[in-house]
Amino acid sequence: MNNVRHIAFGYSTKCNIRCNHCVAVDGLTQNATMEFHAAKSIIQQMVDCNVTGISFTAGEPFIFLNDISNLIGLCSKNSIYSRVVTNGFWAKTQNQSDNIVSGLLQSGLSQLRISFSRWHQKNIDRKNIVNAASSCKKYGLDYFISFITDFSEEDDRYEQFLRDNNLKFFPEPVIYFGRAKGFKHNSILTDYHPNICSMNPYLSPELDMFACCDAGSHFTKTDFFLLGNLKDKSVDELFRKKEENSLYCLIKTMGLTNIASYMGFAASEIVQYRKCELCEKLFNSVANVRILEESLEESGEEPRKESVGYSLMNWTR
Ligand code: SF4
Ligand code: SF4
Repeated sequence: MNNVRHIAFGYSTKCNIRCNHCVAVDGLTQNATMEFHAAKSIIQQMVDCNVTGISFTAGEPFIFLNDISNLIGLCSKNSIYSRVVTNGFWAKTQNQSDNIVSGLLQSGLSQLRISFSRWHQKNIDRKNIVNAASSCKKYGLDYFISFITDFSEEDDRYEQFLRDNNLKFFPEPVIYFGRAKGFKHNSILTDYHPNICSMNPYLSPELDMFACCDAGSHFTKTDFFLLGNLKDKSVDELFRKKEENSLYCLIKTMGLTNIASYMGFAASEIVQYRKCELCEKLFNSVANVRILEESLEESGEEPRKESVGYSLMNWTR
């Protein structure tokens, strides 16, 4: 498998607003911020082990504008593609927005990803989003708007606002973890998706590295996606751990739907889950993880009597 190394870099989980759907902060964990010099030395390790893309995320990165600009500069100097995910609080006026965007471009930022949703916009004026995008267009900084939605009709007018302002946007589904865990789930109207996941890793401010940057850090019954901590292991060791894990590879290639079917989930049940929920059903269960890992160990041998009759590796079309 081609192992391109990208990572979501959680410099801090601190945020200046409180969105009801936030997956990064659930109210149970304390905010944490990485030590700046540790962040620099980690990025240097990433340079040395061929990481080619870093996305600064977690809470709101631009609360730490100077630190993040410095880290972007380090990425740029070493030809690492850099992106920042932001709620746009800093773009209150066109002038302020222009100053910040032109500064980021000078630091070497590759792309800005601006979040927009009916939850974000309870705290951030939607004009900020237009200002930030306009500054990006003006100075030639690549940007897109991440339009987080639960696909309810209520969100249509938010989408229309983006269209009316000629903004480049991509809808992203709400992830029902963190603060969104208790949200009412609309039923899904779709067919039998493979649920393949690209699985970008995530580094937390506490230096825990996870194989998944979204809901994976919430799988606390198994810690299935926890790779380790950078206080004990190097960046390269943890990337290799991810790349050598057969189950992670199967999530990226076979997809969760086929894995669930192998495990005995009925097709009529599988179509009721969103991707991360299906992932949780499979991998936040000690028993399931054990069965799947054992199945991989026995690949090429006679299947166990109680298994479906095939090893997971042979469960292919
Ligand atoms: S979703 Fe983003 S902007 Fe909203 S509270 Fe979470 S980190 Fe902050
Ligand atoms: S499907 Fe699994 S691996 Fe992919 S983002 Fe969701 S929790 Fe992470």
